[in-house]
Amino acid sequence: MADFFNYQDNNLFCEEVSLEQIAREVSTPTYVYSTATFKSHYQKILDAFAELDPLICYSVKGCSNINILKLFAEMDSGFDIVSGGELFRVLQAGGQTDRVVYASVGKTDQEIRQAIDAGIAYFNIESEAELQNIINIATEMRKEVRAALRVNPDVDPKTHRHTTTGKKETKFGVDLERAEDVFKKFGRNQFVKLTGIHIHIGSPINSVEPYIEALNKTLAFIDSLRNQGFNIEAIDIGGGFGADYTAGQAPAAADYAAAIVPLLRDKNLHLILEPGRSISGNAGIFITRVLYLKKGGDKTFAIIDGAMNDLIRPALYEAFHFIWPVRVDPEFAIEKKADPVEIAGTQKFDVVGPICETGDYLARDRLLPPLQRDDLLAVFTAGAYGFAMSSQYNSRPRAAEVLVDGDSYKVIRRRETYQDLIDHEKM
Ligand SMILES: *Cc1c(COP(=O)(O)O)cnc(C)c1O
Repeated sequence: MADFFNYQDNNLFCEEVSLEQIAREVSTPTYVYSTATFKSHYQKILDAFAELDPLICYSVKGCSNINILKLFAEMDSGFDIVSGGELFRVLQAGGQTDRVVYASVGKTDQEIRQAIDAGIAYFNIESEAELQNIINIATEMRKEVRAALRVNPDVDPKTHRHTTTGKKETKFGVDLERAEDVFKKFGRNQFVKLTGIHIHIGSPINSVEPYIEALNKTLAFIDSLRNQGFNIEAIDIGGGFGADYTAGQAPAAADYAAAIVPLLRDKNLHLILEPGRSISGNAGIFITRVLYLKKGGDKTFAIIDGAMNDLIRPALYEAFHFIWPVRVDPEFAIEKKADPVEIAGTQKFDVVGPICETGDYLARDRLLPPLQRDDLLAVFTAGAYGFAMSSQYNSRPRAAEVLVDGDSYKVIRRRETYQDLIDHEKM
């Protein structure tokens, strides 16, 4: 998908703002997001599935700053949440709670009550025990709520094992055999209307086949439920659409839709989608400065002021993030995010942070232009599961977040201070 991070005269810009300017004024490390990218990615998914009049629920957990949630609230987006904290964020951002869907294997009683009070669209149910509990609470509150049962169609999304969620052996949802029993037991409750089916099979899924396979199995299940007299109104196909970590890696929204829409046409099902990464991934980058260069054996290390506490995906999932200097000499002008780049004169670096862990790296054996102390590096496709997964490990204050809109930018989360590190600790 297109984004709005482009080199102008060999200098990287986010929309019309130079990243050197942001680094100078806000310092580093910093996350920088593009308003236009968020909006255009959302709109592309909405357009691609328009025939089915879908509810797009932006998945909050990948990138959850309330200023970004506000952009989605202003576009009348729905929200996919996984905790009471995310519901609070959506409320703060002015999101419409009747467009919220809520998944999580461990919803607490308090979270359930808050979500019922807020009038969310669907509880996405992860287990029989949870459904029983929601029925108990809704009955006690005398409130009617809607629920969708999360089923595992048992397909292999061919993604990292830590982000595979739709196989049988998973803590999420229930397998199809058990799902039928759940409907028989709870499918006609007065307060909890079990009228939806939810799937979320993994992430990122860079091909359409796993969706087709999962949908075919799920639609057959819905047919059989309907034949038994259960009223199924909605299908929520979850998230998992890819992002371009390298150029052209992820199918376009239109490609996913071309495979999915025909399966759902004339099925009389309201379609819900929960895209996260495909919207936010390419909408953010992480900028960091080179502190030191160092040789170790055959390796050259570029030690930077960003670290695994800022961006943990490489350490956690061996994830690839394209990295390139913010300012380059003309011979290193880059056409597209490739792995590996094929440009003469590049050298191999391990790009590592200051944290006391061997796993603290953002790239290994990565071809980059020759680097020097103080060079600024851009770590691309960092908008999803970047800042949202950051921590203060090694007592490193969290990075700042900046949102660019056209030719201006706003700090939407100030850089944390040392005082922030100890504010919640008692003496
Ligand atoms: C994380 C998550 C999503 C979003 O996944 P992406 O890969 O970011 O699109 C959607 N639905 C559920 C239930 C999730 O847990």
